[in-house]
Amino acid sequence: MTGDAQLTSLSDAQALDAADPLFGYRDQFVGVGSDTPGTPQAYFDGNSLGRPLKASIERITHFIQNDWGTRLIRSWDEQWLELPHRIGDALAQAALGAAPGQTIIGDSTTVMLYKFIRAAVSYQLDRDPNRTELVIDDDNFPTDRYIVEGIANELGLTVRWVAVDRALGVTLDLLQPVLGPKTNTVVISHVAYRSGYLADMAGLTRAIHDAGGVVLWDLCHSAGSVAVELDACNADLAVGCTYKYINGGPGAPAFGYVRADLQEQMTQPIQGWIGHADPFAMGPGYTPGPGMRRFTSGTVPVTGMLAMQDTIGLIAEVGIDAIREKSLALTEYAIGLADAWLAPLGVELATPRDGRWRGGHVTLSHPAMREVNQRLWAEDVIPDYRDPHGLRIGLSPLSTSFQEVWLGMSRVRDTLRAVLELD
Ligand SMILES: *Cc1c(COP(=O)(O)O)cnc(C)c1O
Repeated sequence: MTGDAQLTSLSDAQALDAADPLFGYRDQFVGVGSDTPGTPQAYFDGNSLGRPLKASIERITHFIQNDWGTRLIRSWDEQWLELPHRIGDALAQAALGAAPGQTIIGDSTTVMLYKFIRAAVSYQLDRDPNRTELVIDDDNFPTDRYIVEGIANELGLTVRWVAVDRALGVTLDLLQPVLGPKTNTVVISHVAYRSGYLADMAGLTRAIHDAGGVVLWDLCHSAGSVAVELDACNADLAVGCTYKYINGGPGAPAFGYVRADLQEQMTQPIQGWIGHADPFAMGPGYTPGPGMRRFTSGTVPVTGMLAMQDTIGLIAEVGIDAIREKSLALTEYAIGLADAWLAPLGVELATPRDGRWRGGHVTLSHPAMREVNQRLWAEDVIPDYRDPHGLRIGLSPLSTSFQEVWLGMSRVRDTLRAVLELD
């Protein structure tokens, strides 16, 4: 589909919805009906804050009345203490291609990145003190870059920056030259937050391992929209958000993965009581717990883990491959509309055109996009803006329809024409 004029009409969008096997799931989300007051006419930010599922209303109410309100402190032993592991395993199975016992839910993404990268770095230094280089690309998400810089400063290590094309991401050609006998740990976003570039997890992991490095994959923009294969790729560690495509709600805690054979070779720096081998012994000295337990720290963020369970269940029911197929169809459709409507206005695609290298969002570049984004928000059409000049169109596969894409993209076109004073 490359700007095919036949696919730009509203009736085409309606026909795509009618043929979409996942269309019905949209109704399971809060706020998708046009009868909901104040809801966006087109929501293109499910990659930043996903919509809640209606099922979460009932789950949260039930939780307050029963698990918290009635069972009270007894719920810790009955279920809460195990939640990080139980939900982590369910997410791993539904969306991450990971066997049980390797995934937890826990801290904020940023804090978990620190803990996991720091654990990997010490593991590497213990085995070979000459591995003094941390590797990350210069267009990775700010928090990832800041955390890596902080750890390098803390330990007197060096950051090797991979300079990437902002419309692409980390490729083997760019990564290979910085890998070598000094490589300690490499941090890569599986889907780049700006361009939507989908990195080759298998190929890059292999190259990093060949150089003796350890890799941490940031899955914030891939979990729940693209099929991730952590075990098959032999990934070492991974961290990701649950409030983007996993719809866990604002500030919902992150998930983290450590490959089974590495877990007890690593220790993380926030050694709190919940990660202890025997938390309720409350004894002297820290002894890390078995398996993934040692990567936890303090009291489990139970309330933050409620809503994500509904989306994890839904992903398991629908299947991540079917979700990825719809995601690709949505982004391809948006690109087709951009070719037909926006390219003539000077808009450039800042996202890979080849679906094999594209995640779940599309970035459209034009110097007027900051203003276009502001005007659209005032009219209840919600994309987001990322410098320089990028309008991000995030298309959460289960909650977004083709008609919604059509409507939102036509408003982008009309607004850009107005900003450029073409009408
Ligand atoms: C969204 C995102 C984060 C967010 O980190 P928080 O600690 O949840 O604010 C981190 N890394 C990447 C790549 C992201 O896309």
